[in-house]
Amino acid sequence: MSRLEELGVQHKRLRLYGVDLVVAWPDVDPSSLGLGSGDVVIPGGHYQLSSSKWRRSSVVRVGGVEVGGGDLVVAAGPCAVEGEDQLRAAAAAVKAAGAKLLRGGAFKPRTSPYSFQGLGERGLELLRKVGGELGLPVVSEVTDPRQVEAAYKYVDAFQVGARNAQNFELLRALGETDKPVILKRGFGETVEEWLSAADYVLLGGNENVILCERGIRTFDHTLRFTLDVGAVAAVKRLSHLPVCVDPSHPAGRREYVEPLALAGVAAGADMLLVEVHPDPGRALSDSEQQLTPSMFLDFMRKVTAVFRASRST
Ligand code: PEP
Ligand code: MN
Repeated sequence: MSRLEELGVQHKRLRLYGVDLVVAWPDVDPSSLGLGSGDVVIPGGHYQLSSSKWRRSSVVRVGGVEVGGGDLVVAAGPCAVEGEDQLRAAAAAVKAAGAKLLRGGAFKPRTSPYSFQGLGERGLELLRKVGGELGLPVVSEVTDPRQVEAAYKYVDAFQVGARNAQNFELLRALGETDKPVILKRGFGETVEEWLSAADYVLLGGNENVILCERGIRTFDHTLRFTLDVGAVAAVKRLSHLPVCVDPSHPAGRREYVEPLALAGVAAGADMLLVEVHPDPGRALSDSEQQLTPSMFLDFMRKVTAVFRASRST
C-alpha cells in the first residue's frame, strides 16, 4: 500500500507533458505525503492541471499543425457539413486563403429540435474525405460520450460546444483519448468553471486541450453573444493551454466577425475558429454569420497583420 493509500488521500497518478504527476485532493499538503523524489504532487483545487502555476505554456498538435507554437492557426469551414459539394467548395476556399484546419459540424446541437440536426457520421466521413484530399486536418463537434469512439476514426480534433461545456461525462470520455479537444467556454460559465472543465480532460491523461472563448450571455443583445476578450487575456496568464477565439458565434452577423477576431488576436489568441460557407444565404444553420469566401480572404490578411503587429516587440 502506498503512503497515499495509507493516508486515505484521493489521488491519481498520471503522466502529462513527460512529467510523472500525482494529483491528490482535496487540498493536500504535498510535504505530508512522504513521496519519492521523482513525484511531482499537484494538490487538487478547482483547477490545477490547466493552471500556469506548474507550467508556462503548452503546444497542442492538431494533425501536423501546432497550436500555441508561435504562429496564428486558423480553423475555418462551414457551421455544418451539408453535403460533399458544399464542403469541398468551403474547404478549397479556406485553404486558398491560408486556413490550416477545416471545421464542420456533423452532430449539431440545435436550440430547436425542428432545425437541421447535421448529417451525423456521414458528415464526419465527408470531412475525412475532403480534408484528406486537401491536406487539411479536421475539427468537428461531439455532443455525447457515445459518439466519441466513432468520431475518433474521422477527426483530428474534437470540439466540445458551449452547450456541452460542463457535460462532465463527455469531458471524461475525451480525457481517455489522445486526440486534441477544443473546449469551448459555456455562455454562462465563469473562467474558473471553464478551466475546471479543462482539468476533467487533463485528469484523464489527455494533455491536448485548447481553450476556446466563443462569447458569453450578458444583458446586451446587440450582438448574438458578448465576446469576453478580457477572459482571453486572463486565461493566457492563468493557464498554460493554447487559447482559441471563435468570433463567429458572438458576432451572429457577418459584419462583426472580423472586428471580433482582430480583438481576440490582439488579446492573445493562438488560434481562430471561423465559419465560412460557399453560399451563406443558403446555409442550413447560422446563415447570417458565415463569411463568404471573398470576405474570408480579406479577413485572413487582416488577422495575420494584427497577429504580427501584436506579437512583435
Ligand atoms: C459551432 O461551432 O458550430 C457551435 C455550435 O458553437 P458553440 O458551441 O460555440 O455555440
Ligand atoms: Mn455555428
